[in-house]
Amino acid sequence: MTTTLARLLDGRMPDPDGPGMLSVPIRHVVIAPTLAGGEADLVGRLGFGRRIGIVSDVRTRAVLAERIETALSPHHDLRMIVIEGEPHPDQDTVARVMAWVQGCDALIAVGSGTINDITKYAAFQAEMPFAVFGTAPSMNGYTSVSAAITVGGHKKSLPARTPIGVFLDLGVLARAPERLVRAGFGDSICRATAQVDWLMAHRLRGEPYRTAPYALLAEDEAGLIANPAALLTGDLVAMERLARTLILSGLGMTICGNSKPASQGEHLLSHYVEMMAMPDLPHALHGEQIAVTTLAMARLQARMINGPAPVLTATRPNALSLEAHFGSSIGASCWADFAGKRLNEAEAFEMTTRMRGLWPDLTSELRDCGRPAAEIEAALLALGAPTHPRDLGWPNGLTRDAMVHAREIRDRYTFLDLGGDAGLLDEQANAWVRCPQHPGAARGTPAIARAVGRERRLRLERRDALLPFGSISTITSMWNCFRCWPVAANRTKF
Ligand SMILES: [Zn+2]
Repeated sequence: MTTTLARLLDGRMPDPDGPGMLSVPIRHVVIAPTLAGGEADLVGRLGFGRRIGIVSDVRTRAVLAERIETALSPHHDLRMIVIEGEPHPDQDTVARVMAWVQGCDALIAVGSGTINDITKYAAFQAEMPFAVFGTAPSMNGYTSVSAAITVGGHKKSLPARTPIGVFLDLGVLARAPERLVRAGFGDSICRATAQVDWLMAHRLRGEPYRTAPYALLAEDEAGLIANPAALLTGDLVAMERLARTLILSGLGMTICGNSKPASQGEHLLSHYVEMMAMPDLPHALHGEQIAVTTLAMARLQARMINGPAPVLTATRPNALSLEAHFGSSIGASCWADFAGKRLNEAEAFEMTTRMRGLWPDLTSELRDCGRPAAEIEAALLALGAPTHPRDLGWPNGLTRDAMVHAREIRDRYTFLDLGGDAGLLDEQANAWVRCPQHPGAARGTPAIARAVGRERRLRLERRDALLPFGSISTITSMWNCFRCWPVAANRTKF
């Protein structure tokens, strides 16, 4: 364990933003080449009662939960909960887990994203302490306070509790499926774009900002980016860097009490797609999407930062346009978030004038904390991670809409807002969908765009807009590049 994480856990890490030390609610984080043989001791230190429920799925049971069961059974009464099939982090699954673990004193999650979310939320609801043994370095949610749970078809970030202990066995993580490793890298590399967005909002709009979350990550990022491919070859030093980065990224959010340090424009793009996609969109992991959207944000940011101070005009989207795009109920809730970010004519003029003075200093500061898009792309490619929306099977219409409309779904002020009010997003959206192999090829037609728009509106009214063989938007993604369409059948790399 590096000094940064150890010092943070012991309360000996000075707060770079003020007096005193940083403090986090988790004491027991262990990242080690192997935890085999030490499981009972690790759990023993947590002060859990005798009865423990262990939550896993079929895969994570075989990978790790069986080993933990063997280690703990002499000391505890165990109830093994194995979620069959593909686990879904929804209310039903949480309710089933809660019914199974009634009477337990504490819970242990053995898994990564989904199992962690389900157990974390069940523990919160049942007011039980919990700990997690991770099985994959796929996301930064091990140490965060919220859980991603689907409620009535909508994915929500619900308050949960932080685990008392987080235990990562690097040998286990190194054997995780490659997709999960790539996803974890994607959810880490967005540090750069998130920091640039947040710092810009701080400088231009006076939003509270902290450097502490980034001070925690500084030690490992360069090493991680220098040789991402090592993550797939069983290199435990590289794996430890990624594991520590994910843990510290979660702790950074916990310190700030919100997700701002690790979730800005790149996350808005991904959330927009999850919200608006047809149900037949191929499933992609959160971190795989973030890999693609981080690269898009890095390009938008670089274009603006390396250019002249932008000239803003009054914000164009309004209550009516949001309702037309998102439907009346989602549109109204988006409007509640978006309205506060809008600029009127006078405000746009004032900000343009102010930026002209600030631009040289601001952009050099932003350049210092960002990372060139080419570097991000090279790292993702070296890891075999997705870089283009087509790698995820995103239809061009959806991708283009994400760039233009993602800023409308939340109150977070990012370069999507600055770019939007500077009139750059349409062009940026077209550049984003361009086929990487055939940049000059034709992309869709107005008739397809109209059909897709009609389909989206039907879906928002909650009517079944799917054709028997898929959605128009997904099927027509094969026309996005006329020269690529014969391979559209396997348009997802994974
Ligand atoms: Zn994320």
